[in-house]
Amino acid sequence: MTAINENFLKLKAGYLFPEIGRRVNAFVEANPKAKVIKLGIGDVTEPLPPAVIEAMHKALDEMASRETFKGYGPEQGYGFLRDAIAKHDYADRGVKVNADEIFISDGSKCDTGNILDILGNDNLIAVLDPVYPVYVDTNVMAGHTGSADSQGRYQGLVYLPVTAENDFTPELPSEPVDVIYLCYPNNPTGVVATKETLKKWVDYAIENKAIILYDAAYEAFITDSDIPRSIYEIEGARDVAIEFRSFSKTAGFTGTRCAFTVVPKTLTVKSSAGNDVSLHQLWNRRQSTKFNGVSYVIQKGAEAVYSEAGQQQVKELVSFYLENARLLREGLEKVGIEVYGGVNAPYVWLKTPDELGSWEFFDHLLEKAHLVGTPGSGFGAAGEGYFRLSAFNSRENVEEAVKRIQKLME
Ligand SMILES: *Cc1c(COP(=O)(O)O)cnc(C)c1O
Repeated sequence: MTAINENFLKLKAGYLFPEIGRRVNAFVEANPKAKVIKLGIGDVTEPLPPAVIEAMHKALDEMASRETFKGYGPEQGYGFLRDAIAKHDYADRGVKVNADEIFISDGSKCDTGNILDILGNDNLIAVLDPVYPVYVDTNVMAGHTGSADSQGRYQGLVYLPVTAENDFTPELPSEPVDVIYLCYPNNPTGVVATKETLKKWVDYAIENKAIILYDAAYEAFITDSDIPRSIYEIEGARDVAIEFRSFSKTAGFTGTRCAFTVVPKTLTVKSSAGNDVSLHQLWNRRQSTKFNGVSYVIQKGAEAVYSEAGQQQVKELVSFYLENARLLREGLEKVGIEVYGGVNAPYVWLKTPDELGSWEFFDHLLEKAHLVGTPGSGFGAAGEGYFRLSAFNSRENVEEAVKRIQKLME
């Protein structure tokens, strides 16, 4: 008889986005004429930059002739892309990351989940609350937790609340943890971390022999020069941190799929036998065995992000979404809603008016303003009473959404 991975049965069955979909569909069915605007799921809306499209077309033509055709590529990614990343994202900003420490992949979601393959099962794991659900669910699947309580908190994980009360800056864990997930600029709160905050974490990791899994999927949205774009801007981070980055939100690759993970060669962890083991080597082994690389055409497209034209186009794309975020933030503040994030980040995190619960506010906004957002409680217990709006939409929709919220608050 076949057994299953029973850890999957502990998962709170796809609670968030399916539930949103269910409520929206029911509303649309009952109100077929309502023009519903969705500021919910964090997916981009604008097309790929022209420089990327051009590079992909060219790469596809190469695939059409025997002389330039490419079969399997390196599992770690093509040198041309790893070199471009090392130069533009790191060296040019004074950060030391070598090209061979960069692993190209088909997504940061996949990598933040897959990374558990190379870590042990007895680590104590800390996440912020609210949190990007992938970090939690992949640990549940791997059997690193007990079951969930009524608020959706899993036994065995350490939750670090981030709310207006602590200025969205988590306290260090009160018990020593082994692995810490950090995501800055943050999804869902849109909050960024200062150098001091990140230094506190790097020092903590060094002191406690812990590692930091640093998700920088939204780093391109940082316009403030004082805010670190990479964890490796912090002294000592190369010894304790893995960094995940993605072309998804930066360059519109959500449907195209390309990302990368940095595992510094200086990052080692002790084996049970007491030997220093290189996580770079383990990840390389894991990727070579379970992954066959990202398509050549897509990697050529990603490389074009670093061309002069590509950089300019990506900058415009990011500015477009940041302006949406500004319109949302300022439009909501104007009518007295408490708003966080939305600067250096494409998400606006708001305190629900009138002490409404996250889902109550969701229903209210849908029924009265025909707007869809994401209930904060869906990202964790500490997100209750908060609500996320995404800046990934057309200007027209964002302006209309702001008008509707303002009218609703009158
Ligand atoms: C969108 C997002 C990613 C990117 O995931 P991909 O698989 O690269 O598309 C990673 N982390 C967070 C927190 C995100 O919101």
